[in-house]
Amino acid sequence: MLNSREETRSWIESVIGEFCASAGNSLQMQTGEPAWAEPQIAYARGDDPLFEQLKNDIGPFYWTPLEAFRLAWPNLDATAAELAVIVYILPQTEATRLDQREATEFPSERWARSRFHGEEFNCALRLHLAEQLTNAGSPAVAPERLAEFAYRDSERFGIASNWSERHTAWIAGLGTFGLSDGLITRLGKAVRFGSVVARVDLEATSRAYAGHQDWCLWYARGTCGACMKRCPIDAITESGHDKPACFDYIRNVTTPYVRENYGTGATPCGLCQVRIPCESRSPI
Ligand code: SF4
Ligand code: SF4
Repeated sequence: MLNSREETRSWIESVIGEFCASAGNSLQMQTGEPAWAEPQIAYARGDDPLFEQLKNDIGPFYWTPLEAFRLAWPNLDATAAELAVIVYILPQTEATRLDQREATEFPSERWARSRFHGEEFNCALRLHLAEQLTNAGSPAVAPERLAEFAYRDSERFGIASNWSERHTAWIAGLGTFGLSDGLITRLGKAVRFGSVVARVDLEATSRAYAGHQDWCLWYARGTCGACMKRCPIDAITESGHDKPACFDYIRNVTTPYVRENYGTGATPCGLCQVRIPCESRSPI
């Protein structure tokens, strides 16, 4: 592997940057435009106590970085302290955000394409980064790509996956949660995430916040609430995000809509991620 933490970090950033500059980053439209704008990357230590805290909060089915790593590398000796978690943000392009701002009931075509083709690219990026790290001598895994990745029922939080890239991004200093449950990053909420766990020595990115909701105007100052008005089915209220209602709307309304109208798959909505103060920046 590379010599210093700094060299490793810059190598990882070039692996991600070069992949994002490749033809695969595409909305697959005649215009040839990319699915994602320039990525932002951050790091967490594998033994950050917040991972254990998350597991305690969400449920025993939730993976720590070490548990995810061991699923891929059962015969390798590794401790949590030897692992790092690399987390990246893929921001929606300005063109996609502008289109989605006009949408009120169903996602716009660009948004649906980024959710489908852009997420296919994101899946390839997770695997590419894990493979490159492994080839360079740092065994790695993309937990979201493991066959065991699944959604379960959390006693406290309802439907929850066994590896949350949003929560991982929060631990890695990328942002805090908003009223609608989305993560407000420095590049806003109109983003997607990817993550890889590797046996590699990297310095953690510092968290510029103390609480997990510090960058949301609703929680920090008691103002805003713009995302509530953006949801066509009132699944965001003063009490937060109604996950089952959101799930039903996406599965039964927006998913069939995009399939019939744009010929795309996946499960897009994201109306609450644009036309809000935290769309493309942190409002705090
Ligand atoms: S739109 Fe306003 S209330 Fe909703 S998450 Fe963003 S800052 Fe918070
Ligand atoms: S993603 Fe869910 S919460 Fe957001 S606008 Fe769509 S249905 Fe409402």
